[in-house]
Amino acid sequence: MKKVIFKENCSFCNKENTIVTTEGSEGKSIKNKCFHCKKMMFLTVPVANDTSNGNAVTNKTKVGSVNQTEKKLSLLVLASENNKEQHFEISQPFLTIGRKNNTTIQPDIAIETEDTMMSRAHALIKRNDKNNTFSIQDNGSLNHTFINEEKLKTFEDKSRNEIIVLQNNDKIRLGRTIIQVTIL
Ligand SMILES: [Zn+2]
Repeated sequence: MKKVIFKENCSFCNKENTIVTTEGSEGKSIKNKCFHCKKMMFLTVPVANDTSNGNAVTNKTKVGSVNQTEKKLSLLVLASENNKEQHFEISQPFLTIGRKNNTTIQPDIAIETEDTMMSRAHALIKRNDKNNTFSIQDNGSLNHTFINEEKLKTFEDKSRNEIIVLQNNDKIRLGRTIIQVTIL
């Protein structure tokens, strides 16, 4: 399905949001909950002005992609009291995600946080090229991995741990930290 992706600053907190909406909504008014302050933003989807290379080029800041063969995963760490706002864009096939630390066990996606309920290599994110999806699996963490507050099943043999395909707007929770998923 074709998508229109653009960036818009929140009218309340003025922080940037990546908005993903469906093709055909150009010029229409939509609602979007701000990733940062959680207030409801009312905005108009920009009209694409150049689709010659298959990309919807909007008249706003961000160039979005449509029908791109290789998708990217955007992870936005929602700011909580003790972690700063962080954003990762991912296209690699296999990555660990967890807490940044000063040991040798450094995750590929290293989140700077004081949240010690987050393990250092908390979860695994894999890209499945066949169907252009990203999946997540707990990596034997102490406090488990939650997707939209549902706990991913784990087993003693962690290779059997439940694998969930990430969907747009999913919220990953590692420890007390929530990470917003956008598929780009
Ligand atoms: Zn906001």
